[in-house]
Amino acid sequence: MASQEIEALAGALARLPGLGPRSARRAVLWLIKRRESALPALLEALADLQDRLVECDICGNVDTASPCAICSDTRRDARALCVVEDVADLWALDRARLFTGHYHVLGGRLSALDGVRPEDLSIDRLLSRVGRGGIDEVVLAMNATLEGQTTAHYIAERLEGSHVRVTQLAHGLPVGGELDYLDEGTLAQALRARRPVG
Ligand SMILES: [Zn+2]
Repeated sequence: MASQEIEALAGALARLPGLGPRSARRAVLWLIKRRESALPALLEALADLQDRLVECDICGNVDTASPCAICSDTRRDARALCVVEDVADLWALDRARLFTGHYHVLGGRLSALDGVRPEDLSIDRLLSRVGRGGIDEVVLAMNATLEGQTTAHYIAERLEGSHVRVTQLAHGLPVGGELDYLDEGTLAQALRARRPVG
């Protein structure tokens, strides 16, 4: 029988993506054993998460300021906008350092199964960004999943008549491939070989 404190922490950790109750309990034990060495850094990082990190009002990235470092970087190409599902996808693409434009984070993907509708994503904010002008190309960098592709088609339709070139990542992407699991070479290739939608 574990103490109430351990159960509480394990219960909180078990809600993290990719962690079940079993691995959550293992993580708690690991932390108890390393209370001196690993815990202070983790506590500091969690405090930063709560106190310092904010969502960028423009693109939805997570950073210590809004607008974020990417949105306020004047060396980046403001005419190209890459649309991704989640912040993790933005980070994956930016690590590959092949896209030098700006980003837009949708905050998920359309899903009938999970009840995610267009108004649950930042699609309207994307359309206003494009509507303000100054953008030549919108790159749809959705995951190569059914829901990702449905989302890409929906956005492409909504962008029709907006006078921007709409492209999407080449389908060298493995089917079902989630961007943040891909190696940088594959991602770079998909980005280089991007093609017009439709
Ligand atoms: Zn931003």
